[in-house]
Amino acid sequence: MYIVPEKEIAGLVTRAQNFDAVENVFASMSARSAYNFPVIREAIGHADALYGFKSGFDRAGLNLGLKSGGYWPGNMEKGLTNHQSTVFLFDADTGKCRAVVGGNLLTALRTAAAAAVSVAHLAREDAKVLGIVGAGHQATFQLRAVAEQRDFERVVAWNRTPEKLASLEKAAAEMGLPFESLSLEELGAHSDVIVTITSSFDAILKDAQVKPGTHIACMGTDTKGKQEVEAALVARATCFTDEIAQSIGIGECQHAIADGSLKEADIAEIGAVINGNHTGRSSDDEVTLFDGTGVGLQDLAVAAAVVDLAIEKGVAVKVDF
Ligand code: NAD
Repeated sequence: MYIVPEKEIAGLVTRAQNFDAVENVFASMSARSAYNFPVIREAIGHADALYGFKSGFDRAGLNLGLKSGGYWPGNMEKGLTNHQSTVFLFDADTGKCRAVVGGNLLTALRTAAAAAVSVAHLAREDAKVLGIVGAGHQATFQLRAVAEQRDFERVVAWNRTPEKLASLEKAAAEMGLPFESLSLEELGAHSDVIVTITSSFDAILKDAQVKPGTHIACMGTDTKGKQEVEAALVARATCFTDEIAQSIGIGECQHAIADGSLKEADIAEIGAVINGNHTGRSSDDEVTLFDGTGVGLQDLAVAAAVVDLAIEKGVAVKVDF
């Protein structure tokens, strides 16, 4: 089997490869040739840690495995990131462990790739202004991946603590894009595409703040109780997601489902759009919303691509196991 250490990942994958891997697995999920197994997530009663597994099998890509990981709040003091994850891939024909891959950077990359896939398929072709809500660890990855999907002319952003926007401003400058910190009202009024990537438990972006024709990628809500946008905005939008069960249970759609303003049947899989079974955006005035909840199959897809590249470039460690 192969080991691909975390430190090698940055030099291996390109955003285009991640985009393709995530787009393919969303398509496979919708075609019912890939499915996620039930997620396990537990407070382990030690080090205040939350630990769990996301796993699945993609018969089309032959990716079988799991991402093991979680959140250790005390890690910062030890010089480690609080989120820790590792991907294990197994040979679908024999069950033998095929590879162990560092999963920290891959998590940010596959999450950004999901937002990018949604923008590629759902945003207006003439989108010019990209709005980012949130400026934590994931935000710059989101900006870089999404900005490549349209001819954006400007990036605008909002964060609860505006001084944290410096990293987004730097990333925008590196991409040659002008950057402006705005209020939520201004951000909504100007943006053609909005990515929300916060860990908020209350609606930040309100329905009245979003103009017709906007595409919103809600990427932060991945747990029961979290919320980034007003439920009325979700109800007004045409909603798409990676996996419907997660969208209604732990995703952004959970709140509009709970107050009855959205029905499960109103939510479409992004994979159906990719496969040509759903038209996606049907007018220039329509608000489209992607509820990116994050599935294990995304992790397996990007990790499998990394293993192939690592072997090719001679940086995978071969272990007799
Ligand atoms: P982070 O801790 O680095 O940053 C958190 C961000 O949320 C900051 O910008 C902070 O200002 C903002 N925030 C927190 N509470 C807020 C509130 N009440 N109002 C407004 N803003 C608030 O986190 P991160 O690593 O950037 O992750 C952001 C979110 O994305 C988390 O909720 C995380 O669980 C989620 N996430 C989702 C996926 C997925 O696949 N969908 C993958 C990875 C992370």
